Amino acid sequence: MRVSPEIAQLVPYKPGKSIAEAEREYGIQDMTKLASNENSLGVSEVVKKAIAARLDQQFRYPDPSCYDLIHCVAELWKVPVAHIAIGNGSNEIIDLLIRIFCEPGQQILTTECAFVAYAVCAQAARVGVCQVPMKNWKIDLQAMAKVLREDKDHKIRLIFLPNPNNPTGAYITTSEVSEFLNEFSQNCERLIVFDEAYDEFVRAPDYRSALGQISESANVVVIRTLSKAYSLAGLRVGVLFAPTFVIDYFNRVRNPFNVNDLAQVAAVAALRDQEFVKKSVQMVWQGLDYFYKELEGLGLSYVPSQGNFVLFDTHRDAVAVNEALLRKGVILRPVLNYGLKTHLRMTVGLDSENKKAISALKEVISAIPLAVSRWKGPTHG
Ligand SMILES: *Cc1c(COP(=O)(O)O)cnc(C)c1O
Repeated sequence: MRVSPEIAQLVPYKPGKSIAEAEREYGIQDMTKLASNENSLGVSEVVKKAIAARLDQQFRYPDPSCYDLIHCVAELWKVPVAHIAIGNGSNEIIDLLIRIFCEPGQQILTTECAFVAYAVCAQAARVGVCQVPMKNWKIDLQAMAKVLREDKDHKIRLIFLPNPNNPTGAYITTSEVSEFLNEFSQNCERLIVFDEAYDEFVRAPDYRSALGQISESANVVVIRTLSKAYSLAGLRVGVLFAPTFVIDYFNRVRNPFNVNDLAQVAAVAALRDQEFVKKSVQMVWQGLDYFYKELEGLGLSYVPSQGNFVLFDTHRDAVAVNEALLRKGVILRPVLNYGLKTHLRMTVGLDSENKKAISALKEVISAIPLAVSRWKGPTHG
């Protein structure tokens, strides 16, 4: 049967290699996975208890309105219930926003090296992707503004701003965002979507969440996830904050039981367990500082990160470095799909995992010849 060229050309999303997969392929036990920005603290005790106590309810359908979870989110993030919806991970939210607001042939606008889900979901919906070059690894909002001013017939419907971005870890500042919103947030032909998956980890003093911008009169949308700081990646919970007309469309289009019962219960427990989040953030900050110091010692440049990972330049064929690391039992993330041939992305894990990754890196790096980097930008190190 024939399908559209966009569907035929879709490349399946390539997740970080799983531990089981790597152990099978390399015949090594005790693989350390720092490839998918997961939270190495694991599932919090509070969440485990909540899930266990709920097991006997699993013969029933979940609450399609996510009532408890939405109220919990509203209280924690101080946003009215009417502006909140829940998705099966942020990924479903990204997918549905594109399907709701873009027709085939229209476009989304994002940055070069943006989180790959935007482009994948757009392509599946036969929607074009306009990617604006980065500036020093950062989203270039001024260049984006220029593209939008030239888009007179509003072909661009959605603007995706991952802040901080993955895989770069870079962020855009409060004043850059304000200037952009001043010009574009009143335009009712387009939505501005801030993807704040890593908000909890940000240390930069001039970052501010766009949550405060959510209102009926601004076309601003914020997406948060419980996959990172809240450590629920396996259960798939994402949160959408938006004007009510967006929430209304989202609730019409989504699968009525898009968020399963254990996910809802676990999410409420996780949101109430702020001690766990604090611990996660502490772990990430310490781990990042350790990575920076070690990478500098190795003469490898990196992009300073506001997330729970760091993008660094091996100055070598990253596929070869990655392969050698796998043989040492360490799974990192190649970023070839972003056009980065000498970089790897490394998630912050437990102290022991971080040390294992760095010591493996030290061992393999000297045996692999230097390559010419595509990026000669002014990064650290
Ligand atoms: C990890 C990540 C997400 C989270 O995706 P989920 O589908 O909620 O697990 C969203 N956006 C970015 C930029 C991410 O890196």
